[in-house]
Amino acid sequence: MSLFNSLITSTLPILPKWFAKPFARPYVAGKTEDDAVHHIRSLNHKGFSATVDILGEHVMTKEKALDITTQYCHLYDRIAHESLACNISIKPTHIGLDISLAEAMANFTTLVYKAKEYGNFLRIDMENSPFTDQTFEIYQHCKTIYNNVGVVIQSYLHRSLDDINHLAICQFNSRICKGIYKESESIAFQDREEINDNYLNLAKTMATRGAYSGFATHDQDLIDQLLGWIESENISKDLFEFQVLYGVPMEGRLEALLEAGYKVRVYVPYGPDWFDYSVRRLKENPKIISYVLKNFFRSK
Ligand SMILES: Cc1cc2nc3c(=O)[nH]c(=O)nc-3n(C[C@H](O)[C@H](O)[C@H](O)COP(=O)(O)OP(=O)(O)OC[C@H]3O[C@@H](n4cnc5c(N)ncnc54)[C@H](O)[C@@H]3O)c2cc1C
Repeated sequence: MSLFNSLITSTLPILPKWFAKPFARPYVAGKTEDDAVHHIRSLNHKGFSATVDILGEHVMTKEKALDITTQYCHLYDRIAHESLACNISIKPTHIGLDISLAEAMANFTTLVYKAKEYGNFLRIDMENSPFTDQTFEIYQHCKTIYNNVGVVIQSYLHRSLDDINHLAICQFNSRICKGIYKESESIAFQDREEINDNYLNLAKTMATRGAYSGFATHDQDLIDQLLGWIESENISKDLFEFQVLYGVPMEGRLEALLEAGYKVRVYVPYGPDWFDYSVRRLKENPKIISYVLKNFFRSK
């Protein structure tokens, strides 16, 4: 980790929020549901679909986990009533997985019935490796209630190809991302090239198995490689979409993808916990500091 990144990471929690806000703001769609809906509507008008996430994780009380679950239920209502092209992404520890598997299962059960009521989709985000097995267990439980549920596969994990081979039955739908948490080299690739090679391998395996992929990446070279493969193999547009995080500059790439007829979904995070969440993320992966600074100055 560079000295600069480590300095920012250690001082950020004690710096005033007004100082950190300009760095976090481009990547967070506001504090309230109304803020998020406003941004989702505007993305929809431009041709993008969205997935919405309430910022937060590692909730440690049942009351808070239930409160977040209720907020997600309300989001499903709002999406339906306003006819938004938007589904929902949820971090399992935000609705109870750090309390117990049973707690998370109960809250996901409520949400999957809500998704079913509206014919919407539920994405279960993937957190760090202590939660991987239990997250797949929750996914498999949700699938017994409703088919329109998906999970996330991280290409830095050695296990991911096996996970696809195990899970890719019955209309499997997975976002593929590189993985954002710090994981040890005993379980995860550390080298960028290996992570990207595995990403492509996972994407190809998903297509071979007829599974639907959300290609979640801002890496322009990787997008080029995915497009090269998609075009040369004539992969059906019904089998994938591209996904990006709200606010990350893509230099016209997303509009070009839309114009070429590809589906692009933007991940829209919002919520009052933006500061604590951002600090935790930065502490976990200080590399993000360099991204944020690079994007911040590029957009000036
Ligand atoms: C839609 C979506 C959902 C995701 N869901 C999960 C999940 O459930 N679990 C999980 O572990 N990870 C998730 N991630 C994060 C992902 O695993 C990567 O850590 C992150 O996307 C960076 O990898 P990259 O593929 O964009 O490539 P990189 O090579 O790491 O980044 C390429 C470029 O993108 C820009 N960039 C990337 N990330 C950021 C950022 N956070 N802020 C500002 N600029 C950035 C930078 O300019 C960078 O140079 C998700 C990512 C996306 C896009």
